[in-house]
Amino acid sequence: MEPLEVLIYPEPALRRVGRPVTAFDADLRGLADRMCKAMYLDDGCGLAAPQVGIDLNLLVLNPNGDPSDTAGELVLLNPKITKKKGREYDEEGCLSLPGIRAEVERWVHITISYQDLSGKEQTLQCANLLARIVQHELDHLDGVLFVDRLTAADKMRVRPLLERLERRYQDRKD
Ligand code: ZN
Repeated sequence: MEPLEVLIYPEPALRRVGRPVTAFDADLRGLADRMCKAMYLDDGCGLAAPQVGIDLNLLVLNPNGDPSDTAGELVLLNPKITKKKGREYDEEGCLSLPGIRAEVERWVHITISYQDLSGKEQTLQCANLLARIVQHELDHLDGVLFVDRLTAADKMRVRPLLERLERRYQDRKD
């Protein structure tokens, strides 16, 4: 099976809001599996369904980004933050925004509720890097990209990089 293609900014599908997952079936497991493969192929540590053009509240992640170490692999369906504490800036990048890195302010500690692949309700406490990845990927489910959350100075700095991606997108379409 062909690996899923990760969509690059400013692809409009990246701005679509995800729909709740309601069918916890083999198709869903297959999709989550293909998303994990696409994430590892691009050396990422998280991937949300809108990034592969699917408007579902589904995200996959593995903080160590290592396909041979799947202990940290998580598939989150319909995730929501239920508790949050502490703010911190740290650097982020995104598979849909190649070549751009910048500091983003996030919660340091969060508690999330989500459903697993069998549809069972789960709760997870996350801190630091894991909490940051979850918040970054949750944003994708709302059509939000990390560059939307930068300081005014960083927005100015990355503007030429975004424009370069916009030109590339236009060239591919023409
Ligand atoms: Zn991203």
